[in-house]
Amino acid sequence: MQFIETRGNDGSKPSSVSFSEAILSPSASFGGLYVPQELPSINQDFLEKHLTSHYKTLALDFLESFGIDIETKILKEALERYDAFDDPSNPVPLSQIEEDCFVAELYHGPTRAFKDMALQPFGYILSKLAQKRGEEYLIMAATSGDTGPATLETFQNQEGVKVACLYPDGGTSDVQKLQMVTEDASNLKVIGVKGNFDDTQNALKELLASEDFKAELHARGIKLSAANSVNFGRIIFQIIYHIHAYLELARKEHITMGEKIYLVVPSGNFGNALGAYYAKKAGLPIEKILISSNMNNILTDWITTGTYDLNSRVLIQTESPAMDILKSSNIERIMFDKFGDKRTKELMDDLAKDGKSQLTEEELASLREDFDASFSDDFECESVIGMYAKNGYIMDPHTATCMRAYAHLREIKLKTVVYSTAEWTKFSPAVAHALGKDVNGDIEALQWVSAHANVSVPKMIEGLFTKPIKHTVVVEKESIKGEMLNFL
Ligand SMILES: *Cc1c(COP(=O)(O)O)cnc(C)c1O
Repeated sequence: MQFIETRGNDGSKPSSVSFSEAILSPSASFGGLYVPQELPSINQDFLEKHLTSHYKTLALDFLESFGIDIETKILKEALERYDAFDDPSNPVPLSQIEEDCFVAELYHGPTRAFKDMALQPFGYILSKLAQKRGEEYLIMAATSGDTGPATLETFQNQEGVKVACLYPDGGTSDVQKLQMVTEDASNLKVIGVKGNFDDTQNALKELLASEDFKAELHARGIKLSAANSVNFGRIIFQIIYHIHAYLELARKEHITMGEKIYLVVPSGNFGNALGAYYAKKAGLPIEKILISSNMNNILTDWITTGTYDLNSRVLIQTESPAMDILKSSNIERIMFDKFGDKRTKELMDDLAKDGKSQLTEEELASLREDFDASFSDDFECESVIGMYAKNGYIMDPHTATCMRAYAHLREIKLKTVVYSTAEWTKFSPAVAHALGKDVNGDIEALQWVSAHANVSVPKMIEGLFTKPIKHTVVVEKESIKGEMLNFL
């Protein structure tokens, strides 16, 4: 299986690359992304065959049917990372919260957010590839919360890969910050930046574009890769849990094999939703993928009107910060799949030049065959959290945005899977507030919610508050380069 480029080929890169190439060097011609040339089939036979399979067995069979250039042995070892999840026999449990609504909990990994689902096995594979080639890679991430901890966690003590993670000082929750600054491994560097997330992200972009920084990396024999969801190595693992969720419903006889379901996906960079789209396209019986957002509802606009307009917006800080995103990278892969490389380049060029792009009526109709979308504000999310807490189910604010889509967007009364992308413990002050208590910081929120709602706090979260702090550097953005060169 080869990978091709969403904006077409500029003549300076190969016209198609292997999976390893696509994940080691994820930037494609004209600033585009890599996509698979075709998808394996998820037909009735495949589903029947895996009705009683373990998650890892399903995953291995799916990855092998993709025909990627990674040895079976390495794939198996990568999938063993799921053995460290709460329940090794099922890394993604489903909880029923309504007669026809089920929450697929993607957060049972080491950092309690769904990023672990893909980053855990992906990190293992990337590091093995680097070792095999005798190369050294640097991954740099700017994080507002969940990507940083999950990226550091997967690469800790992995040879061939160094990770530098920049976070806005004061711009993350206590838990998120502690997850980063307590990471203890010589290949990891965590730098606090004075400023907000935008400043941090811009500082990173400037650094990555700077010729003398690139020259310094070159002189040290270090190559740059990326671990965000522009990397297809993450997307491939994000197809599998959608198949798993479907099979779980069939196993528990909530659906019969072949019956269609809705998926509701709380979205930011659209990696999770893209995985769902590929699963649907490959044959998984999905009626529609319902996209939920917070007040940064640019995806709702795009999917309901065809307009993607950055000019009319400023980023709003919400209680679901992992979805506080305006430039959603992975919709480019949807555009490519539906409209082809020329049109994708045109739409992406419009967006870069005018801050705006517009689909035609026909393109919008095609998009809406697979997707619909809605959004919720913080007030509505808190009331959803409060309501389900009364029934004994605690959800985080990202998950809570989904319940409006579940209530209002379904055209047929089909069974519905809602994806839960974070454990409540990562956003405990908002959850405490939703349950009627104003708190001072994460410790108080964790203790109060845990006692009030009778839910436990996992030990990897509780333990953070007494774990030694390893990274204390907080700098002005001008000093990031110096810190980086010291580290390298
Ligand atoms: C990353 C993240 C999202 C958004 O997922 P995308 O794949 O970027 O759309 C939603 N919720 C949480 C908690 C996340 O960490």
